[in-house]
Amino acid sequence: MGNANNDFKHTIFGYGMTYIVLTHDADSVSKPMSHVLRIRSRFRLTDLIAHLLGLTNLYDNFHRIADIEDDVGAKSTFFIPAFLFPLDPVFDELKSLSDEGWEIGLHAVVERIQGDGLIRMQLNYLRDYLGLRPMGVRSHYLICDEWVLSLYANLGFRYDSSIRCETAGRYDPYLIRDSLLELPITLMDADLFGRLHLGEDSAWRFMEWKLKRAINSGSQFIVLLFHQESFRMKGGRLYSKLLWWLHEHEHEFLRCIDAYNVYMSSRAH
Ligand SMILES: [Zn+2]
Repeated sequence: MGNANNDFKHTIFGYGMTYIVLTHDADSVSKPMSHVLRIRSRFRLTDLIAHLLGLTNLYDNFHRIADIEDDVGAKSTFFIPAFLFPLDPVFDELKSLSDEGWEIGLHAVVERIQGDGLIRMQLNYLRDYLGLRPMGVRSHYLICDEWVLSLYANLGFRYDSSIRCETAGRYDPYLIRDSLLELPITLMDADLFGRLHLGEDSAWRFMEWKLKRAINSGSQFIVLLFHQESFRMKGGRLYSKLLWWLHEHEHEFLRCIDAYNVYMSSRAH
C-alpha cells in the first residue's frame, strides 16, 4: 500500500517515526454462563475457574487493559456504546479511567431507520447525561458510508475510526470534508481469529508482518483495535505481548484524540 503523503512524513515527523494509536471497542461486559462454558477452550483454565466461582468477570477488562498500558507508559481510547449493554455496572470504572486520562469515544450503533436521531440519542446519552464527552466515534460492525460519515461530521465529532486501512487505501489519517478526521484501522483482533482463522502463533507472525509492512511503507500512524471483552481470550492475550514489542521498538503510543491533535497541528504549520 503506497503512502500518499511522503513530504508530510519528512517535514513534520522525521523519517521512520510511527505513532501507534491504541483503541478498544466494548461490545459486551458480560455473557451468560452457558456461553462461557460453550467457548471455554478460548480461556486459560485458571481464569475460567475464577469466572465460574464468581471471583472475576472475564468480559470486564477495562482496568486490566489500562494496567498493562500503564506499564509501557501508554493510554488508549475505549469506544463505549450507549445501546449494546447497560452502562450502569461499569460506569464508575469508565469514569475513573476517563479521569485518569484514558479517552472515551462513542461506539455507535448505526440503524438506517431514524439513524440520525438514534445516533444523536447515543451521543446525548454519553456526553450530556453521563458526562463522558466523546470527541470521536467508531461504528459497531464498522458500518460506514458517506451518509454515516456526514452524520458524524454534522454531530460535531472530530474524528471517525470505522474504516479499515484496506478500504481507505492508506494507513495514515485523512480529512473528510475538512472537518472530520478519518483514522483508518490497521489491525483488528477479530480479523485474526474470526476471519483469518489463525492460531496464536500464526496470528503473532501475521501481526508482526502487517505492522512492519505499514511501518516500512513510511506511515506515521498505525491504529490498533483490540476488543475489551476479548482481552483474556486466546488472541486477545497477544495484546500485552504486542504492546511490549512496540515499546521495545521505541514507537510512541497515542490515544485517538492525541493522533487528531498531532495531525491537525502539523497541518497548521
Ligand atoms: Zn462493536
